[in-house]
Amino acid sequence: MTARLIDGKALSAQLRDGVARRCSALKARGVTPGLAVILVGDDPASQVYVRNKVKACEDAGIRSVLERHDATLTEAALLARVQALNADPAIHGILVQLPLPAQIDSHKVIEAIAPGKDVDGFHVASAGALMVGRPGFRPCTPYGCMKMLESIGMTDLRGKHAVVIGRSNIVGKPMAMLLLAANATVTICHSGTADLGALTRQADIVVAAVGKRKVLTAGMVKPGAVVIDVGMNRDEAGKLCGDVDFDGVREVAGWITPVPGGVGPMTIAMLLVNTVESTERGA
Ligand code: NAP
Repeated sequence: MTARLIDGKALSAQLRDGVARRCSALKARGVTPGLAVILVGDDPASQVYVRNKVKACEDAGIRSVLERHDATLTEAALLARVQALNADPAIHGILVQLPLPAQIDSHKVIEAIAPGKDVDGFHVASAGALMVGRPGFRPCTPYGCMKMLESIGMTDLRGKHAVVIGRSNIVGKPMAMLLLAANATVTICHSGTADLGALTRQADIVVAAVGKRKVLTAGMVKPGAVVIDVGMNRDEAGKLCGDVDFDGVREVAGWITPVPGGVGPMTIAMLLVNTVESTERGA
């Protein structure tokens, strides 16, 4: 079997078109969605991520306000900026690009964001809402993965076994909660899991969110399974690659997401979806 590709680039373009239409409708009512992006310091990867997010906002008709701060910014000064943006009616979403410099407690900063503007979905209120099935913002990466499953007709996952590899607060855990909410039976694996392959071979859906190459190889996948690769790594040649041994696994899986062009573009699209949603809630 050669797996079919779930094309994150094409799907994210569709989602962004939808956001652009919703932005136009809001603008016709005199409301322009606004996203504040805070970048502290000069981490090169963060600069690229922020640039991509700002550009995606502009393309979709969301007004983005990029705040750049020196790496020496104090925690108190950053908290004051977040409070000011919380109170700003023209701002509907606030994103603080992580990581933050060592002198700043990132948890404190994320918890300072008003939950109604937490479009990254990292606030404990958002995590709690997801846990108890209440409305709240879903973290963009796992939310994008769910949209990828929906795009291949997998909406109700009753009777399906999903294995999530990785348990971070921003990817693995919320991913598991979203799969559970869609009625899947969910197993969460991590570095302490014994015999990962024995579990993944039982899975109808595998989501790999580890950050290590070839964590999932062909022999670990049930024929026909859906494989979603969240990982972002570099191979020996410096080329972007995921956690999945793509060439091997695509011969066994039924569906697979590529890297690049898979989960990455979906993450940005879901940030735009959350921002327009936040604006609609308040408009
Ligand atoms: P993280 O916080 O480092 O978490 C990695 C998880 O993988 C941990 O739970 C860890 O287990 C587990 N793990 C490590 N080695 C393992 C192994 N050999 N077998 C099974 N589990 C193992 O990383 P993250 O922030 O969730 O990100 C994961 C990957 O996704 C990274 O490559 C990141 O760049 C990528 N990512 C991509 C996007 C995107 O938009 N495409 C967005 C976010 C993240 P322990 O908990 O036991 O340590």
